[in-house]
Amino acid sequence: MTPLEHKLRDRIGRSGPIPVSEFMAMALGDPVHGYYRKSDPLGAKGDFITGPEISQVFGELIGLWCVHCWQQAGAPNPVKLVELGPGRGTLMSDALRAVTTVHAFTEACDIHLVETSPVLRRCQELALKDHRVTWHEVLEHVPAGPELIIANEFFDALPIDQYQMTEAGWRLRCVGLNPAGDRFRFVTNHKAPDKTVLPPNLDGVPVGGLFEACPAGLQIAGTLGARMADEGIAALIIDYGHARSEAGETLQAVQNHTYCDVLTNVGEADLTAHVDFAALGSRAKQTGVRIYGPVPQGTFLTELGIEARTNQLAARANKRTATLLKTGAHRLIGADSMGMLFKVMALTGDGVSNPAGFESLLHQRTE
Ligand code: SAH
Repeated sequence: MTPLEHKLRDRIGRSGPIPVSEFMAMALGDPVHGYYRKSDPLGAKGDFITGPEISQVFGELIGLWCVHCWQQAGAPNPVKLVELGPGRGTLMSDALRAVTTVHAFTEACDIHLVETSPVLRRCQELALKDHRVTWHEVLEHVPAGPELIIANEFFDALPIDQYQMTEAGWRLRCVGLNPAGDRFRFVTNHKAPDKTVLPPNLDGVPVGGLFEACPAGLQIAGTLGARMADEGIAALIIDYGHARSEAGETLQAVQNHTYCDVLTNVGEADLTAHVDFAALGSRAKQTGVRIYGPVPQGTFLTELGIEARTNQLAARANKRTATLLKTGAHRLIGADSMGMLFKVMALTGDGVSNPAGFESLLHQRTE
């Protein structure tokens, strides 16, 4: 058993099964043994790889996207560039390099990172050593005012609740112990969940079927919406997930680029769940903010010019780097890799009515 498994076993032994969200929160965020607290999980040598780690073009295009929104909003000065869960700081560093020639922006811009992992904060410090950066534990600590907020593969790491259909109806799924007390197992509790957490389209889900909800994600979507509707410029959410709320189980554990059991190696494997973009969008919309998307990541990056920029870099690079750039771009936009599964949604304030990358949705826009 890992140290965290001992801690969890004691806790469940003392006070009974805990909701999946509590299990996930401890597995990822326990101050001593949590997955994100103790190591850098990213990159080829880590457990998983993300868009900015695949190609520098990813962060560059997002930097340009931010400047385009900022200009539409009348180029406010000062402006904050905020990132939620910045990993190694690669996206932010690539974004800032891409906009260095837009002096009015770089001079107006303060960088704020929302990050809970001390290990990753150190990586970010290194990646952004030439910039003025302020770190925060939560978004609420970032001062108000005109801002651009980026969240890439942040929402998928937030704890989810699972509800399971039983003979008696929907029940909260929890993590308990087997009779010998030496292994974790899923159980359901006896209380019916509050009706408001389940969407109306779940009729017909058979016994055993699951629905996942992310209360922490909804809370942050509400905060993002309120901030954008107030003085904000734009927020960009990129993640893997679904455009409609639907039943299904997506909670997964990944260690060393391989899927593993969610209930074993707790604290050593990354735990994530697909993001329910419909749920995030409808929570944010309650604040009156404009919502664009979600659109597939492949569509978004293609509209921003990923191919032209990749070809431009490849033409100047040696053969090996040119191949890496091209396979990286394919991985980001290809329908068979990240291009369809990953989605992009923007929330914009009053000044921004035409964020780049969402042209394909022009006629379906929800306001
Ligand atoms: N955006 C980065 C990293 C994605 S991994 C990239 O694309 O490469 C998820 C990131 O979110 C990590 O930096 C992790 O430490 C951070 N994180 C996870 N839960 C968090 C929380 N509750 N608050 C702030 N940051 C969190």
